[in-house]
Amino acid sequence: MVTTTKTSYLNYINGEWKASQSGDFAENINPANSELIGTIPSSTKADVDEAVKAAKMAQKTWRLVPAPERGEYLFRIGELLRERKEHLAQTLTKEMGKVIDEARGEVQEAIDMAYYMGGEGRRLFGQTVPSELPNKQAMSMRVPVGVAGLITPWNFPIAIASWKSFPALVGGNTVVWKPATDTPALAYEFVKIFEEAGLPKGVINLVYGSGSTVGNAIVEHPDIDIVSFTGSTETGSDISSRAGKLLKRVSLEMGGKNAIIVMEDADLNLAVDGILWSAFGTAGQRCTATSRLIVHRDVKEKLETLLLKRIDELKIGDGADEEVDIGPVINKKALEQISHYIKIGKDEGATLLCGGEAATDGNLSNGFYFQPTVFSDVDRDMRIAKEEIFGPVLSIISVSSLEEAIDINNEVNYGLSSSIFTNDTNKTFKAMRDLDTGIVYINAGTTGAEIHLPFGGTKHTGNGHRDSGVAALDVFTEWRSVYVDY
Ligand code: GLU
Repeated sequence: MVTTTKTSYLNYINGEWKASQSGDFAENINPANSELIGTIPSSTKADVDEAVKAAKMAQKTWRLVPAPERGEYLFRIGELLRERKEHLAQTLTKEMGKVIDEARGEVQEAIDMAYYMGGEGRRLFGQTVPSELPNKQAMSMRVPVGVAGLITPWNFPIAIASWKSFPALVGGNTVVWKPATDTPALAYEFVKIFEEAGLPKGVINLVYGSGSTVGNAIVEHPDIDIVSFTGSTETGSDISSRAGKLLKRVSLEMGGKNAIIVMEDADLNLAVDGILWSAFGTAGQRCTATSRLIVHRDVKEKLETLLLKRIDELKIGDGADEEVDIGPVINKKALEQISHYIKIGKDEGATLLCGGEAATDGNLSNGFYFQPTVFSDVDRDMRIAKEEIFGPVLSIISVSSLEEAIDINNEVNYGLSSSIFTNDTNKTFKAMRDLDTGIVYINAGTTGAEIHLPFGGTKHTGNGHRDSGVAALDVFTEWRSVYVDY
């Protein structure tokens, strides 16, 4: 069902809301019911050029604003985010589909990040160290990188935008931001807050459009000094080679194939809570979502029975309904992609325990819903055990020991998040040491990372950088070493 157009989003360049230099528009659709929410400009390279020019000009003065004062802007942004929390959460659910409680949690993450990074304005620590020579002082300080190009995904449209923009700004950089095409409304609301907080013109610039046009123009622009991207491994790899040719600094946050390990001594009810939340929350569309369950043979059957009973109780529907547990996936293409993997799983000989199809009962057929799906008897070499699916699909692999579980966890190309449920202290510490992921959870699912620690992963998940936490400042500042003779 399609209703009339409601909003036409505009770019924000040099402190002004403006139409793209191209007249073309893409559509913003509510995935819960296919309603048209608004239209967005398909901006061009010329729009990016204009935004970069403004950002470059503004950076000349922004870098001289004392860092504590840059932090003050973030505190003001935090206050505005807090005031508008419910409105932002409703907007998020409407255009992205995640259930309203998760949307509130995501907005809270942006609020927390604003205060956390605002505080960094008063730290931005360097070092002072003794010099080898007399009458000499040696020290290091953080300086801005320059103009930051931010390319952000639709699954955490405000949280991830805050993980990148706040450290960029407090570090003295200016920003050109391309949000995901599927979530333009949140980007508009977010930038409106920057504007109301009084950020000087040109410090933040928003350019809507496709990855192939706007994304590439940002990555390849000679005056963009750092690119920070979150999204698919395929796109990240392409960005990496384009930016690599230009010797440009680039921070990549990409896919995951995260596992929960359940050992024979675990509290199984607790494990089921973690599995449900991490595998099916956000309809499985988190980089950190659990898509593999590696379970000890001795408890496999019992765990499966408990899990299926709880899945049966989950309510699928429009995330705006407070009673709903699983909202829609982002769009039709995602629905098709998930269905494609279900076929692969079946063809590979895995046992389908539940789900496996789009959910189409009643009104659901107007949106893009997928049933929570569990495959059992999955072999570690199957594609559904190795490839990122980005939907509510869980593959169960059984093992006989902790060592085997850790091997299986580590053998995929990704290394974002992992978890172990066990009551054995020795297993806990071995897991902390040996699970090859950027994030490890003990007795909790693989999702729910907090903003004050580094976020990111190993192997094809990232390229060694981290979003959030103090580590994010390493992305958005350069180290300068200074020697003073006196
Ligand atoms: N903050 C999210 C979590 O830990 C992950 C963000 C992402 O999926 O990129 O669940």
